[in-house]
Amino acid sequence: MLIAKEKAVVQKMILLYCRLNHNNKALCADCKELLLYASQKLDKCPLKHNKPSCKKCPIHCYSSDKKEKIKEVMRFSGQRILMYHPRAFLMHLLK
Ligand SMILES: [Zn+2]
Repeated sequence: MLIAKEKAVVQKMILLYCRLNHNNKALCADCKELLLYASQKLDKCPLKHNKPSCKKCPIHCYSSDKKEKIKEVMRFSGQRILMYHPRAFLMHLLK
C-alpha cells in the first residue's frame, strides 16, 4: 500500500477511535501524538516501497507503549470503520 494511503487509513482509524472513546470531535492530545508518531514511522519505514501491512511487518518499529495503543485503535476501529469508511477499509484489505 502507498504510504500516503496507509497514512490516511491510520488517521481515519485514530479519529474514529478518539471520537467514540474520548468523545472528541477533533483529536485529543494523546491521539494526536499517536497519529504523529504513526505518520513519522511510516515516513521512515525502510520497507516503504514494498510494504506489507504493519501487522505482518518483520520490523516492529513501534515502541512498546505506542504499539499497545495502536493495536487497541486498530482493534477498535477495524471493526467499525467498515460502517463509516467502507472504501478506505476495503482498500486496506485488498492491497
Ligand atoms: Zn483521543
